[in-house]
Amino acid sequence: MSDSKKTVKVALGVGSNIGDAKANIDKAAELLEVGGFMSLERSSLFITKPVGCVPGTPDFTNCAFVGEWTGSAEELLNLTQSIEVKLGRPTVHRSDEARVIDLDILLFGEKQLVSERLTVPHPRMCERLFVMEPLNELADNWQIAEHGSVGSVLIRLKGE
Ligand code: ATP
Ligand code: MG
Ligand code: MG
Repeated sequence: MSDSKKTVKVALGVGSNIGDAKANIDKAAELLEVGGFMSLERSSLFITKPVGCVPGTPDFTNCAFVGEWTGSAEELLNLTQSIEVKLGRPTVHRSDEARVIDLDILLFGEKQLVSERLTVPHPRMCERLFVMEPLNELADNWQIAEHGSVGSVLIRLKGE
């Protein structure tokens, strides 16, 4: 079996702050499953203040998804980006603007990946309470390369 066909445990960071955020997140979960993302588990929803966004940006609804993916990380990114577009996120957008849905690949097993399109673990996840708090509900023991467990990173972040 080629490496790209192994089944890997994956964590996604999810955020929405345009329209009905809960409905957008539900739709994203449904489309992920249709696209082959298996055993999807969801954290609770967290309402969070925007970080690093333009003034006046509405509050976010954030959550984490954990599931299983058979294929490469790039193939998963193709799926997550196609879902972002299907739900109405413009293909050309800025990282600091409101969005219908944002689906980020946080963790891909315990792999470290760097390519033009993808850096995993997600390079900013460990500094973001809005990412770590939902993820901790589903996967407190998951080891993040060079950072320690999800739970220990969250404790550090909360102490700052
Ligand atoms: P941030 O990455 O700071 O959370 P954002 O999610 O709003 O900001 P996007 O506009 O969704 O940023 O993505 C910008 C680019 O990031 C994408 O084109 C994608 O190729 C790249 N990218 C790199 N690593 C990842 C990752 N782990 N998950 C998702 N996208 C990634
Ligand atoms: Mg993001
Ligand atoms: Mg993103």
